[in-house]
Amino acid sequence: MDKKTLSLFPFTREASLNVQSLGVSLDALVEDDAFERARIRGKERVIEAIERGEVSKPLIFSDLHAEIELLSYPFARILVSCIGDSALIERFALAEAKGSYEKLKRLSSSKDDFALALAEDFSLNVSPAEESASATRRTGALAGQFKMHFTDFLRLSAGLSGLRWKLVNRDLRDGFVLLNRSEFLRLLQSAFYMKVRERLPLEVPAGIRHAVMKYTEEIKRVWERVKSEAFKRGSCGGEDMKGIMDVSCFPPCISRILSGLLAGENISHAGRFALTAFLLNIGMKPEEVMQLYKNAPDFNASRTKYQVEHIAGSKGTKYISPSCDTLRTYGLCVKEEDEICKEVSHPLKYYARKLHLKKRVRAKEKEGQGKREERLSSGVRK
Ligand code: SF4
Repeated sequence: MDKKTLSLFPFTREASLNVQSLGVSLDALVEDDAFERARIRGKERVIEAIERGEVSKPLIFSDLHAEIELLSYPFARILVSCIGDSALIERFALAEAKGSYEKLKRLSSSKDDFALALAEDFSLNVSPAEESASATRRTGALAGQFKMHFTDFLRLSAGLSGLRWKLVNRDLRDGFVLLNRSEFLRLLQSAFYMKVRERLPLEVPAGIRHAVMKYTEEIKRVWERVKSEAFKRGSCGGEDMKGIMDVSCFPPCISRILSGLLAGENISHAGRFALTAFLLNIGMKPEEVMQLYKNAPDFNASRTKYQVEHIAGSKGTKYISPSCDTLRTYGLCVKEEDEICKEVSHPLKYYARKLHLKKRVRAKEKEGQGKREERLSSGVRK
Protein backbone atom coordinates (compact mmCIF):
# COMPACT_ATOMS: atom_id res chain seq x y z
CA MET A 1 0.00 0.00 0.00
CA ASP A 2 1.26 3.51 -0.68
CA LYS A 3 1.61 6.10 2.07
CA LYS A 4 -1.61 7.93 1.16
CA THR A 5 -3.68 4.75 1.41
CA LEU A 6 -1.94 3.66 4.59
CA SER A 7 -2.83 6.94 6.25
CA LEU A 8 -6.53 6.04 5.86
CA PHE A 9 -5.94 2.78 7.76
CA PRO A 10 -3.30 3.86 10.30
CA PHE A 11 -3.90 0.89 12.62
CA THR A 12 -2.62 -1.71 10.14
CA ARG A 13 0.70 -3.48 10.63
CA GLU A 14 2.00 -1.90 7.44
CA ALA A 15 1.08 1.61 8.59
CA SER A 16 2.79 1.04 11.90
CA LEU A 17 5.98 -0.14 10.13
CA ASN A 18 5.80 2.95 7.96
CA VAL A 19 5.58 5.19 11.03
CA GLN A 20 8.58 3.38 12.55
CA SER A 21 10.57 3.94 9.36
CA LEU A 22 10.09 7.71 9.77
CA GLY A 23 12.35 7.49 12.84
CA VAL A 24 10.38 10.02 14.92
CA SER A 25 11.00 9.58 18.64
CA LEU A 26 8.19 9.88 21.18
CA ASP A 27 9.76 13.00 22.68
CA ALA A 28 10.00 14.61 19.25
CA LEU A 29 6.40 13.77 18.38
CA VAL A 30 5.22 15.31 21.62
CA GLU A 31 7.42 18.38 21.73
CA ASP A 32 9.12 19.31 18.44
CA ASP A 33 7.65 22.25 16.53
CA ALA A 34 8.06 20.20 13.35
CA PHE A 35 5.25 17.88 14.51
CA GLU A 36 2.77 20.47 15.71
CA ARG A 37 0.43 19.72 12.78
CA ALA A 38 0.46 16.02 13.60
CA ARG A 39 -0.37 16.84 17.24
CA ILE A 40 -3.23 19.14 16.27
CA ARG A 41 -4.62 16.50 13.93
CA GLY A 42 -4.25 13.88 16.70
CA LYS A 43 -6.33 16.06 19.02
CA GLU A 44 -8.88 16.56 16.20
CA ARG A 45 -9.17 12.78 15.76
CA VAL A 46 -10.25 12.41 19.39
CA ILE A 47 -12.60 15.39 19.24
CA GLU A 48 -14.20 14.06 16.04
CA ALA A 49 -14.67 10.72 17.79
CA ILE A 50 -16.43 12.45 20.66
CA GLU A 51 -18.57 14.85 18.64
CA ARG A 52 -19.35 12.83 15.50
CA GLY A 53 -18.65 9.24 16.47
CA GLU A 54 -16.48 8.94 13.37
CA VAL A 55 -12.93 10.02 12.57
CA SER A 56 -12.86 11.73 9.18
CA LYS A 57 -10.61 10.52 6.38
CA PRO A 58 -9.49 13.66 4.56
CA LEU A 59 -8.34 13.83 0.99
CA ILE A 60 -4.58 13.26 1.17
CA PHE A 61 -2.79 15.53 -1.27
CA SER A 62 0.90 14.75 -0.67
CA ASP A 63 3.27 12.32 1.03
CA LEU A 64 3.96 14.93 3.68
CA HIS A 65 0.25 15.22 4.40
CA ALA A 66 0.06 11.42 4.61
CA GLU A 67 2.89 11.40 7.15
CA ILE A 68 1.11 13.98 9.30
CA GLU A 69 -2.03 11.87 9.18
CA LEU A 70 -0.07 8.72 10.04
CA LEU A 71 1.75 10.34 12.96
CA SER A 72 -1.44 11.88 14.31
CA TYR A 73 -2.84 8.41 15.00
CA PRO A 74 -0.26 7.31 17.62
CA PHE A 75 -0.49 10.80 19.11
CA ALA A 76 -4.29 10.43 19.45
CA ARG A 77 -3.70 7.08 21.20
CA ILE A 78 -1.39 8.82 23.66
CA LEU A 79 -4.05 11.47 24.34
CA VAL A 80 -6.88 9.02 25.09
CA SER A 81 -4.48 6.99 27.24
CA CYS A 82 -3.57 10.05 29.31
CA ILE A 83 -7.23 10.84 29.92
CA GLY A 84 -7.74 7.21 30.86
CA ASP A 85 -11.56 7.21 30.66
CA SER A 86 -12.51 3.77 29.36
CA ALA A 87 -15.72 5.07 27.78
CA LEU A 88 -13.70 7.63 25.83
CA ILE A 89 -11.23 4.94 24.72
CA GLU A 90 -14.16 2.85 23.56
CA ARG A 91 -15.64 5.74 21.63
CA PHE A 92 -12.30 6.56 20.03
CA ALA A 93 -11.77 2.95 18.90
CA LEU A 94 -15.30 2.74 17.47
CA ALA A 95 -14.92 6.09 15.68
CA GLU A 96 -11.55 5.22 14.12
CA ALA A 97 -12.95 1.91 12.90
CA LYS A 98 -16.12 3.56 11.59
CA GLY A 99 -14.17 6.21 9.63
CA SER A 100 -12.01 3.61 7.87
CA TYR A 101 -15.01 1.35 7.25
CA GLU A 102 -16.96 4.19 5.60
CA LYS A 103 -13.97 4.92 3.39
CA LEU A 104 -13.66 1.27 2.44
CA LYS A 105 -17.38 0.99 1.71
CA ARG A 106 -17.14 3.82 -0.80
CA LEU A 107 -14.47 2.03 -2.83
CA SER A 108 -15.85 0.17 -5.81
CA SER A 109 -16.16 -3.62 -5.64
CA SER A 110 -13.31 -3.81 -8.17
CA LYS A 111 -11.10 -2.84 -5.19
CA ASP A 112 -12.07 -5.93 -3.19
CA ASP A 113 -8.49 -7.15 -3.44
CA PHE A 114 -7.63 -4.20 -1.28
CA ALA A 115 -10.18 -5.26 1.37
CA LEU A 116 -8.70 -8.76 1.22
CA ALA A 117 -5.21 -7.31 1.71
CA LEU A 118 -6.47 -5.52 4.81
CA ALA A 119 -7.95 -8.79 6.09
CA GLU A 120 -4.57 -10.42 5.54
CA ASP A 121 -2.92 -7.65 7.54
CA PHE A 122 -5.15 -8.72 10.47
CA SER A 123 -4.34 -12.41 9.82
CA LEU A 124 -7.99 -13.20 9.04
CA ASN A 125 -8.71 -16.45 7.25
CA VAL A 126 -10.89 -15.07 4.46
CA SER A 127 -10.83 -15.40 0.68
CA PRO A 128 -13.12 -15.10 -2.34
CA ALA A 129 -15.65 -17.95 -2.36
CA GLU A 130 -15.00 -20.32 -5.25
CA GLU A 131 -18.63 -21.35 -5.24
CA SER A 132 -19.97 -17.85 -5.38
CA ALA A 133 -22.08 -18.47 -8.46
CA SER A 134 -23.96 -21.48 -7.07
CA ALA A 135 -24.25 -19.87 -3.61
CA THR A 136 -25.69 -16.75 -5.21
CA ARG A 137 -28.31 -18.86 -7.00
CA ARG A 138 -29.22 -20.70 -3.81
CA THR A 139 -29.15 -17.97 -1.18
CA GLY A 140 -29.96 -14.89 -3.21
CA ALA A 141 -28.11 -11.99 -4.76
CA LEU A 142 -24.72 -11.06 -3.35
CA ALA A 143 -24.54 -14.09 -1.07
CA GLY A 144 -21.30 -16.00 -0.91
CA GLN A 145 -18.86 -13.56 -2.47
CA PHE A 146 -16.39 -14.28 0.31
CA LYS A 147 -15.77 -17.08 2.76
CA MET A 148 -14.42 -16.58 6.27
CA HIS A 149 -13.30 -19.23 8.70
CA PHE A 150 -15.99 -19.69 11.35
CA THR A 151 -13.57 -18.90 14.23
CA ASP A 152 -12.88 -15.44 12.75
CA PHE A 153 -16.59 -15.01 12.02
CA LEU A 154 -17.49 -15.80 15.65
CA ARG A 155 -14.84 -13.47 17.05
CA LEU A 156 -15.70 -10.52 14.79
CA SER A 157 -19.48 -10.86 14.98
CA ALA A 158 -19.59 -11.28 18.77
CA GLY A 159 -20.62 -7.66 19.44
CA LEU A 160 -23.07 -7.39 16.52
CA SER A 161 -26.80 -7.64 17.00
CA GLY A 162 -29.17 -9.22 14.51
CA LEU A 163 -30.04 -12.78 13.60
CA ARG A 164 -27.81 -12.82 10.52
CA TRP A 165 -24.76 -12.71 12.80
CA LYS A 166 -25.72 -15.94 14.57
CA LEU A 167 -23.67 -18.86 13.28
CA VAL A 168 -26.73 -21.15 13.24
CA ASN A 169 -28.33 -18.92 10.61
CA ARG A 170 -25.31 -19.03 8.29
CA ASP A 171 -24.36 -21.08 5.30
CA LEU A 172 -21.38 -23.01 6.65
CA ARG A 173 -19.14 -25.04 4.30
CA ASP A 174 -16.10 -27.00 5.49
CA GLY A 175 -15.64 -24.63 8.42
CA PHE A 176 -16.12 -21.46 6.34
CA VAL A 177 -19.02 -18.99 6.53
CA LEU A 178 -20.21 -17.53 3.21
CA LEU A 179 -20.50 -13.75 3.26
CA ASN A 180 -21.72 -11.09 0.90
CA ARG A 181 -19.59 -7.99 0.36
CA SER A 182 -21.34 -5.75 2.86
CA GLU A 183 -21.14 -8.43 5.56
CA PHE A 184 -17.45 -8.93 4.88
CA LEU A 185 -16.77 -5.18 5.18
CA ARG A 186 -18.84 -4.95 8.36
CA LEU A 187 -16.76 -7.73 9.92
CA LEU A 188 -13.61 -5.93 8.81
CA GLN A 189 -14.88 -2.91 10.74
CA SER A 190 -14.97 -5.09 13.87
CA ALA A 191 -11.39 -6.13 13.13
CA PHE A 192 -10.39 -2.45 12.80
CA TYR A 193 -12.06 -1.68 16.12
CA MET A 194 -10.27 -4.53 17.90
CA LYS A 195 -6.95 -3.41 16.49
CA VAL A 196 -7.43 0.20 17.62
CA ARG A 197 -8.65 -0.94 21.05
CA GLU A 198 -5.60 -3.21 21.49
CA ARG A 199 -3.21 -2.20 24.30
CA LEU A 200 -5.22 0.93 25.21
CA PRO A 201 -4.72 2.67 27.55
CA LEU A 202 -0.97 2.82 26.95
CA GLU A 203 1.45 3.36 29.82
CA VAL A 204 2.41 7.01 29.38
CA PRO A 205 5.40 8.44 31.31
CA ALA A 206 4.63 11.40 33.60
CA GLY A 207 6.79 13.79 31.54
CA ILE A 208 4.80 13.02 28.37
CA ARG A 209 1.51 13.39 30.24
CA HIS A 210 2.61 16.81 31.35
CA ALA A 211 3.76 17.81 27.86
CA VAL A 212 0.40 16.95 26.27
CA MET A 213 -1.74 18.53 28.97
CA LYS A 214 -2.93 21.44 26.81
CA TYR A 215 -4.45 18.92 24.38
CA THR A 216 -5.91 16.60 27.01
CA GLU A 217 -7.51 19.47 28.94
CA GLU A 218 -9.29 20.67 25.79
CA ILE A 219 -10.48 17.14 24.98
CA LYS A 220 -11.75 16.65 28.54
CA ARG A 221 -13.85 19.80 28.28
CA VAL A 222 -15.40 18.63 25.01
CA TRP A 223 -16.01 15.16 26.44
CA GLU A 224 -17.76 16.53 29.55
CA ARG A 225 -19.93 18.83 27.43
CA VAL A 226 -20.97 16.10 25.02
CA LYS A 227 -21.76 13.66 27.84
CA SER A 228 -23.86 16.21 29.63
CA GLU A 229 -25.71 17.18 26.39
CA ALA A 230 -26.38 13.52 25.62
CA PHE A 231 -27.69 13.01 29.13
CA LYS A 232 -30.02 15.98 28.82
CA ARG A 233 -31.28 14.76 25.45
CA GLY A 234 -31.84 11.34 26.95
CA SER A 235 -33.72 12.89 29.83
CA CYS A 236 -36.18 14.73 27.59
CA GLY A 237 -34.48 18.12 27.72
CA GLY A 238 -33.49 18.14 31.36
CA GLU A 239 -34.96 21.60 31.93
CA ASP A 240 -37.73 20.35 34.17
CA MET A 241 -35.25 18.34 36.21
CA LYS A 242 -32.90 21.10 37.16
CA GLY A 243 -32.02 20.82 40.83
CA ILE A 244 -33.04 17.15 41.01
CA MET A 245 -30.75 15.62 38.41
CA ASP A 246 -27.19 16.71 38.71
CA VAL A 247 -24.91 14.48 36.68
CA SER A 248 -21.84 16.10 38.20
CA CYS A 249 -22.90 14.64 41.58
CA PHE A 250 -23.28 11.05 40.38
CA PRO A 251 -21.01 8.52 42.10
CA PRO A 252 -18.06 7.26 40.03
CA CYS A 253 -19.62 3.81 39.50
CA ILE A 254 -22.84 5.24 38.04
CA SER A 255 -20.98 7.86 35.97
CA ARG A 256 -18.84 5.09 34.54
CA ILE A 257 -21.83 2.96 33.52
CA LEU A 258 -23.66 5.99 32.10
CA SER A 259 -20.62 7.14 30.08
CA GLY A 260 -20.26 3.64 28.69
CA LEU A 261 -23.90 3.53 27.69
CA LEU A 262 -23.74 6.94 26.01
CA ALA A 263 -20.60 5.86 24.17
CA GLY A 264 -22.45 2.85 22.74
CA GLU A 265 -20.73 0.23 24.91
CA ASN A 266 -22.41 -3.07 25.63
CA ILE A 267 -23.24 -2.73 29.36
CA SER A 268 -23.53 -5.85 31.53
CA HIS A 269 -26.90 -6.88 32.94
CA ALA A 270 -25.78 -5.94 36.47
CA GLY A 271 -24.58 -2.53 35.22
CA ARG A 272 -27.91 -1.86 33.49
CA PHE A 273 -29.83 -2.77 36.60
CA ALA A 274 -27.65 -0.55 38.84
CA LEU A 275 -27.94 2.43 36.48
CA THR A 276 -31.68 2.07 35.86
CA ALA A 277 -32.56 1.64 39.52
CA PHE A 278 -30.31 4.56 40.51
CA LEU A 279 -31.84 6.94 37.94
CA LEU A 280 -35.38 5.94 38.88
CA ASN A 281 -34.56 6.26 42.59
CA ILE A 282 -33.38 9.85 42.17
CA GLY A 283 -36.57 10.80 40.37
CA MET A 284 -36.07 10.20 36.66
CA LYS A 285 -39.16 8.99 34.82
CA PRO A 286 -39.15 5.49 33.21
CA GLU A 287 -39.63 6.95 29.72
CA GLU A 288 -36.64 9.26 30.26
CA VAL A 289 -34.46 6.33 31.34
CA MET A 290 -35.57 4.42 28.24
CA GLN A 291 -34.35 7.24 26.02
CA LEU A 292 -30.81 6.75 27.35
CA TYR A 293 -30.83 3.10 26.35
CA LYS A 294 -31.29 4.07 22.72
CA ASN A 295 -27.48 4.35 22.68
CA ALA A 296 -27.06 0.65 23.52
CA PRO A 297 -25.78 -1.43 20.58
CA ASP A 298 -28.50 -4.07 21.12
CA PHE A 299 -31.35 -1.61 21.81
CA ASN A 300 -34.76 -3.21 21.67
CA ALA A 301 -37.58 -0.77 22.48
CA SER A 302 -40.17 -3.20 23.86
CA ARG A 303 -37.70 -5.24 25.92
CA THR A 304 -36.16 -2.07 27.40
CA LYS A 305 -39.62 -0.69 28.20
CA TYR A 306 -40.55 -3.88 30.01
CA GLN A 307 -37.31 -4.01 32.02
CA VAL A 308 -37.30 -0.33 33.00
CA GLU A 309 -40.97 -0.39 34.03
CA HIS A 310 -40.41 -3.60 35.97
CA ILE A 311 -37.57 -1.97 37.97
CA ALA A 312 -39.77 1.12 38.43
CA GLY A 313 -42.38 -1.06 40.16
CA SER A 314 -44.94 -1.95 37.49
CA LYS A 315 -45.24 -5.44 39.02
CA GLY A 316 -45.58 -4.13 42.57
CA THR A 317 -41.95 -4.12 43.73
CA LYS A 318 -40.03 -0.92 43.27
CA TYR A 319 -36.34 -1.81 43.19
CA ILE A 320 -33.64 0.10 45.05
CA SER A 321 -30.27 0.46 43.34
CA PRO A 322 -27.64 -2.00 44.66
CA SER A 323 -25.32 -1.11 47.55
CA CYS A 324 -21.58 -0.50 47.20
CA ASP A 325 -20.88 -4.04 48.48
CA THR A 326 -23.05 -5.54 45.73
CA LEU A 327 -21.49 -3.32 43.07
CA ARG A 328 -18.06 -4.38 44.28
CA THR A 329 -19.05 -8.03 43.86
CA TYR A 330 -19.94 -7.33 40.23
CA GLY A 331 -16.71 -5.40 39.64
CA LEU A 332 -18.66 -2.17 39.08
CA CYS A 333 -17.12 -0.13 41.90
CA VAL A 334 -14.57 2.33 40.52
CA LYS A 335 -14.02 4.57 43.52
CA GLU A 336 -10.25 5.03 43.07
CA GLU A 337 -9.29 8.04 45.19
CA ASP A 338 -12.75 9.51 45.69
CA GLU A 339 -13.08 10.98 49.20
CA ILE A 340 -16.87 10.60 49.47
CA CYS A 341 -16.66 6.94 48.43
CA LYS A 342 -14.56 6.28 51.52
CA GLU A 343 -17.45 7.37 53.74
CA VAL A 344 -20.53 5.86 52.09
CA SER A 345 -21.98 2.39 51.69
CA HIS A 346 -24.51 3.17 48.97
CA PRO A 347 -24.38 5.13 45.66
CA LEU A 348 -27.58 6.97 46.65
CA LYS A 349 -25.87 8.17 49.84
CA TYR A 350 -22.95 9.33 47.74
CA TYR A 351 -25.29 11.33 45.52
CA ALA A 352 -27.12 12.92 48.47
CA ARG A 353 -23.82 13.81 50.18
CA LYS A 354 -22.35 15.39 47.06
CA LEU A 355 -25.50 17.38 46.31
CA HIS A 356 -25.42 18.66 49.87
CA LEU A 357 -21.73 19.65 49.64
CA LYS A 358 -22.31 21.38 46.32
CA LYS A 359 -25.22 23.33 47.80
CA ARG A 360 -23.04 24.44 50.72
CA VAL A 361 -20.25 25.60 48.41
CA ARG A 362 -22.77 27.55 46.32
CA ALA A 363 -24.28 29.17 49.42
CA LYS A 364 -20.80 30.23 50.60
CA GLU A 365 -19.95 31.65 47.19
CA LYS A 366 -23.21 33.61 47.22
CA GLU A 367 -22.50 34.91 50.71
CA GLY A 368 -18.99 36.00 49.65
CA GLN A 369 -20.42 37.72 46.58
CA GLY A 370 -23.02 39.52 48.73
CA LYS A 371 -20.34 40.75 51.12
CA ARG A 372 -18.16 41.97 48.25
CA GLU A 373 -21.10 43.89 46.76
CA GLU A 374 -21.90 45.37 50.18
CA ARG A 375 -18.30 46.55 50.64
CA LEU A 376 -18.34 47.99 47.15
CA SER A 377 -21.56 49.92 47.62
CA SER A 378 -20.51 51.25 51.05
CA GLY A 379 -17.21 52.41 49.44
CA VAL A 380 -19.19 54.21 46.75
CA ARG A 381 -21.43 55.90 49.39
CA LYS A 382 -18.38 57.21 51.30
S1 SF4 B 1 -17.70 3.15 46.73
FE1 SF4 B 1 -19.87 2.92 46.25
S2 SF4 B 1 -20.45 4.89 45.39
FE2 SF4 B 1 -18.23 4.81 45.29
S3 SF4 B 1 -17.77 3.99 43.22
FE3 SF4 B 1 -17.82 2.26 44.66
S4 SF4 B 1 -19.88 1.49 44.53
FE4 SF4 B 1 -19.92 3.55 43.68
